[in-house]
Amino acid sequence: MIGQRLFRARKAMGLSLRDLAGQVGLSHAAIKKYEDELVTPSSDVLIKLSRVLNVQVEYFFRSQSPHLEDIEYRKRSSLPKKRLEAIEHEVMDQIERRLELEDLFPASPLKKFSPVAGLPKNVSDWEQIEEVAELVRTAWQLGYAPIPELIDALETHGIRVFMIDAYADPKFDGLAAAVHGMPIVVVGSNWPGDRQRLTLAHELGHLMLAGRLAEGLDEELACNRFAGAFLIPRQSVLQELGACRSDIEMRELALLKDEFGISMGGLLYRARDLGIVSPGWKDQKAREFRRKGWNITEPGIPYPVEKPHVFEQLVFHALAEDYIGESKAAELMQIPLTAFHKMRMLEGCSPSGHQ
Ligand SMILES: [Zn+2]
Repeated sequence: MIGQRLFRARKAMGLSLRDLAGQVGLSHAAIKKYEDELVTPSSDVLIKLSRVLNVQVEYFFRSQSPHLEDIEYRKRSSLPKKRLEAIEHEVMDQIERRLELEDLFPASPLKKFSPVAGLPKNVSDWEQIEEVAELVRTAWQLGYAPIPELIDALETHGIRVFMIDAYADPKFDGLAAAVHGMPIVVVGSNWPGDRQRLTLAHELGHLMLAGRLAEGLDEELACNRFAGAFLIPRQSVLQELGACRSDIEMRELALLKDEFGISMGGLLYRARDLGIVSPGWKDQKAREFRRKGWNITEPGIPYPVEKPHVFEQLVFHALAEDYIGESKAAELMQIPLTAFHKMRMLEGCSPSGHQ
């Protein structure tokens, strides 16, 4: 158990056996023996390892060991393998803590994911993708209004969302996977909110459309279409922009972005896909976006980042019901006990992003 965890934490830091050995003052052969579980490290060594690997000592003793299944990256090939491994291991640690926490509850505190009932068995055109997105919105009682907290909406329906610091990887574009049959989605914690939301909605598309798409439909394009339709359904676009336009002011798109949390670029596609503007208009605007660099960074204040709440809520729920004590709660949230206690007492800290 310790060996596997050691291996994972080392990979998460992007260290070779030799790098780690050097930093804790041991031979690489000794580290290898720990990882292969031929030798159990002493507690002194574990303390040194935990410091270098930036984990708490308890990390080495956790019992569960999930595996990521069916991993899908949106831009799989563009990240170096080493970095992908590090992302996986970083996520795995969050997943472990999440599962450990949920296991403390006598009955599962969250719904199990299941595709929405009544979705068409075969989806063979774009119209049907619009329909699927609307069926999901209806089933989740989202109506036609903007979705203020997309992460919470997903988590409430059994899709666990995890965040990683993706500053180092401009090319990392989200990850969808399954662990013990439970769907998970990973997004960058520091992306603008509209990028996070598009990724989340796109990955939701994969989950809802899996096994339904006709041969001729490209799954990635289908999921992009689903994402747009899920973030701003047809009826809302028509209501906001009108059914037929010869031109749309950029300011209109900016206002709509603020309201629905979908990028201006995404709205260009949405307006074209719903036949509000001509394909030529959209292409011309897309060129304009590229010329101005808006395809990389859109103008104006970025849409606020999504904040996950469920993990922290569950920690405090478990604490209130005495499933755990403060030190376990602090360990799960990976913050020092004193900081956790202050947070618990609502002393000058804002609850956020410790997942
Ligand atoms: Zn995809």
